[in-house]
Amino acid sequence: MKTVSSSVELCVSCMEKHKVDVVQIEEHETYKNKEVGFIATYEYCSNTKELFETENMIRANSLAMKDAYRGEVGLLKAEDIIGIRKKYGISQKDFSEILDWGKATITRYENHQVQDRAHDDILRKINSDPKWLMEMLNRAKGRLSQKAYAKYHHNISKEYRLQGDHYLRESIYASYANYEDDTLTGCMELNLDKVIEVINYFAKKVNNLHMVKLMKMLWYSDTFNHKRYGHSITGLAYRALKMGAVPEGYEQIVLLEGVSYEVAIYDDIAYRFKPVPGFKIKNLSDKDIESIDISISTLGDLITAEIVSLMHEERAYQETPSNQLIPYTFSKDLKVM
Ligand SMILES: [Zn+2]
Repeated sequence: MKTVSSSVELCVSCMEKHKVDVVQIEEHETYKNKEVGFIATYEYCSNTKELFETENMIRANSLAMKDAYRGEVGLLKAEDIIGIRKKYGISQKDFSEILDWGKATITRYENHQVQDRAHDDILRKINSDPKWLMEMLNRAKGRLSQKAYAKYHHNISKEYRLQGDHYLRESIYASYANYEDDTLTGCMELNLDKVIEVINYFAKKVNNLHMVKLMKMLWYSDTFNHKRYGHSITGLAYRALKMGAVPEGYEQIVLLEGVSYEVAIYDDIAYRFKPVPGFKIKNLSDKDIESIDISISTLGDLITAEIVSLMHEERAYQETPSNQLIPYTFSKDLKVM
């Protein structure tokens, strides 16, 4: 028996006012044919040597026992269910409504009733699949208030975007895991937070920053930094394509949360990058920024075709076979900076 707190109060066991301890005891009970161990909380009267439970303790002890059972058989615990619901900011009543379960189902699961396996599976799926929850939200639209629907729609969309961004990052990092050779990433591990900051920094300082120009400026600043300090800024690897250097995974990189662009249609689709509102530098060092600033002052005012032709004169580009990755070892031969 472990005492966790004590206070002087009217003791309901001996009906006298004295110091009553709150104690914790490990208990074992059989629930649904399973023996479960859990920590129960009681008040203890030192006069009668009696343990007793307040209303709240009765509820909490029952929940502790059921959570222990849930743990034993691999079901979500009450706090897990509360966590899933709160992640999407949905009320207990509306959550039951969206799931098309009985009105008080979620409230019961969060308080005293152990969910069945089928409902447990649905809750787990909701946790990992906001898109699916969105479908259910839309199905329940007519049964929710407009205000509640709008709020849930916003929250679920946000989770969906965050999750998408998480997978996007994972897949970019996974593709870079193949580049064990330091000369391909400039002796740096890929750092997407830095990549996003460099793109925003360029977007803030360079007018009309289109895709091809952005890619060349990324290569020049990474390669220039490698020339000065022996390592790239971002850890990006670049491939020698017809228009010059292109970062590996750029199709995914431009879709990352924190990268923003407008799409304009000329002869072709053009992306013009712009800084995201409230952009701040958190990951780039002063030296990184110095290299980037020099790239901007050298190349920032050039039109795309001019940068492309400069790139074509670089030894790094000329000596790398078409469609192959450009080794950073060529940084020492960099011409324009
Ligand atoms: Zn007492």
